[in-house]
Amino acid sequence: MYLKALEISGFKSFAKKATLNFNSPISAIVGPNGSGKSNVAEGFRFVLGEQSIKAMRGKRGEDLIFNGGGEGARVNRAGVKVVFDNSKRTFTIDFDEVAIERVVHRDNSNEYFINGSPVRLKDIVELLSGAHIGASGHHIISQGEADRILNANIRERREMIEDALGLKMYQYKKIESQRKLEKTEENMKSVESLRREIAPHLKFLKKQVEKVEKVQELREELRSLYKIYFKREETYIKSERSRIDFEKNPLNKELSQLDKEITEARNTLENSKNRDAKSNELIELESALHKIRLEKDAIMRELGKIEGEISAGQKTISKEKEKQARDEFKTVYLKDVEEVVNKIDLLQTIDEIKNLLFGFISSHKDKVDSSLIGEIENDLQNLRNKKSDFEKSLKTFDENERSNTLEYNTLREKIEREKDSNRDAEKNVFRIIARQNEVRGVLNGIKTREDKLIFEEESFKREMQEAYSIVGREAVDYADLVISEEAQNLQFDRIKAIEKIKIRIEDSGAGNSIDILKEYKEVEDRDAFLAKELSDLEGSKTNLHALIADLDARIDIEFKEGILKINVQFNNYFSLMFGGGTAGLSVIREKRRKKKSDTDIAAALEGEDAYEEEEGEEGIDISVNLPRKKVKGLMMLSGGERALTSIALLFAISSVNPPPFIILDETDAALDEANSRKYGDMISSLSNYSQLILITHNRETMSRAGVLYGVTMGGDGASKLLSIQFEEAVKVAK
Ligand code: ATP
Repeated sequence: MYLKALEISGFKSFAKKATLNFNSPISAIVGPNGSGKSNVAEGFRFVLGEQSIKAMRGKRGEDLIFNGGGEGARVNRAGVKVVFDNSKRTFTIDFDEVAIERVVHRDNSNEYFINGSPVRLKDIVELLSGAHIGASGHHIISQGEADRILNANIRERREMIEDALGLKMYQYKKIESQRKLEKTEENMKSVESLRREIAPHLKFLKKQVEKVEKVQELREELRSLYKIYFKREETYIKSERSRIDFEKNPLNKELSQLDKEITEARNTLENSKNRDAKSNELIELESALHKIRLEKDAIMRELGKIEGEISAGQKTISKEKEKQARDEFKTVYLKDVEEVVNKIDLLQTIDEIKNLLFGFISSHKDKVDSSLIGEIENDLQNLRNKKSDFEKSLKTFDENERSNTLEYNTLREKIEREKDSNRDAEKNVFRIIARQNEVRGVLNGIKTREDKLIFEEESFKREMQEAYSIVGREAVDYADLVISEEAQNLQFDRIKAIEKIKIRIEDSGAGNSIDILKEYKEVEDRDAFLAKELSDLEGSKTNLHALIADLDARIDIEFKEGILKINVQFNNYFSLMFGGGTAGLSVIREKRRKKKSDTDIAAALEGEDAYEEEEGEEGIDISVNLPRKKVKGLMMLSGGERALTSIALLFAISSVNPPPFIILDETDAALDEANSRKYGDMISSLSNYSQLILITHNRETMSRAGVLYGVTMGGDGASKLLSIQFEEAVKVAK
């Protein structure tokens, strides 16, 4: 015995708390119509989690709460508690007693408790289904519902039987698995759609990454090419620079020397302009000298003349002197003679005349006539003086001539010399210009090379910057590179290769590689995650399919086995009830008429049937053969026969898979006395497997019960419960 008690308070007509103890395999609840007996059965439904208010004859949750008919006070909550014995651990919780409680409030809210602890409805459903007490209530047969199974369609019957066979658990599991499967398939679809969504992007990114990888390879190649290129370029530039400097420096030096020289030469030539002045000076000197000479010649001539005159004078003097020395040539001047004659006057004697004459003679004999000589001498002296003057001025002229000649010669020499140096300067200027041109030519050549070198240096620097920006610092980290000699054109080939690679990198159109790689990684990870998710889902899908197939197989096997077992019992109960005959369940598949497809309809127009039969759902058919009657089929049964067949089937089902308790609300209402007895017998045998709570007006049924409860309703509209004896019960029931 599992069911111990039911406590009802505020539920429907039970205003006050009423407790029913079920300490007998069969308990009966009796009482007059409308006293509240069925409310007890509904109390069971309620506490076991029934969610259909309609199944409990209400519209709203509030209808389940005692609403204070008559003098009874209205209550705000309805609560029902059912207590089970769990010493055999029928319920999978570790308590010897399990009390399940449900409370509904006027605001329609529900509370559930297991052993006083608030729980969810789901927890209760699970706990009960584990003990084969389904919420569908196959073990609670409400009033007038006994032949529900006969009225139901084949699929509903199947469900009822599955529930009764305890296959609902599997069904729940199956439904849950199917739901999971649906969810899984939905998830798979959304994952697949997500993957499909990201696939083009991933593909694009993959291509980008391939590009990036290609570009990375190219960069690597470029980097090593650059290093060699730069090393060589730098070496070349350095050596070319020093070569140029080596060639240029002496030439520049020479050029500046030549500049100096040409300046000098030009200065020299510039100075030659003064030559005319010098020539004039020379001419002047020359004419001065000429004048001096002319004057000197004149003086010389004068001197010659003077000397001639002097010599002539001297000769005259000496001749005079000679002549005077000779008497005959003595000259007596007439006046002297006249004087002497004048002195010889008459009165003088001869002697005196003689003396006078003698004196005259002697004075004239010794007397030299110096007047001429003196005159000449005087002239001579004058001449000599003149000569001396001339000689003096000649001397001056001589000196002048000498100095002038010296000056002239010096100037002349100077002019000559200058002429020479001008010629040299001229020659030099030509030579220097020629050399300058030559040097400049060479320097121009060097300049061209230098310009080229500067250009090369600039492009080298530019290239380095570019290299740095394209492939990073490593590209310009070539200092330690060791290179050997090679042909210059290889370097040219190298830069061509570099250019090609640069173009390829540029053409690759690969964007920011870090971002792309990062994004690709992210998207790839996401795709991988989704793929993993998908395979996980695929796995769970497979598992669920397997589980569902397994459940289906189990349900199918257990269902069919159950049907076989039920059939045996059904046949037994049926023939017991009807004193013979046969009854049985069979699994059938529904046949449905389905409209044919268009093409088939076309065929149908040619006379064929436009409908075709389709396999429907699997369900349960009931076949009955009453004894001594030819009537077959449920439709042909009378009300009582239907009730008996229903009861036989219910009992058969219950005996195959006995629930812990069965509540039968006036299932026996339609039975006559004979059948009531048979019903009573069946109850007795059924109570061996399940605890029975019977709501009945039937005396026979009451007689089978170990415990009897009487329900009455007072003026306050509230049901009252009392434990009674059989005799009382019979009275109460009436
Ligand atoms: P019968 O023998 O005719 O089947 P019964 O004993 O099974 O009758 P029930 O159907 O259980 O009687 O009880 C019906 C009674 O319960 C009615 O009188 C009804 O007024 C009363 N009832 C139902 N709901 C409530 C409620 N919420 N508050 C008060 N009374 C209620």
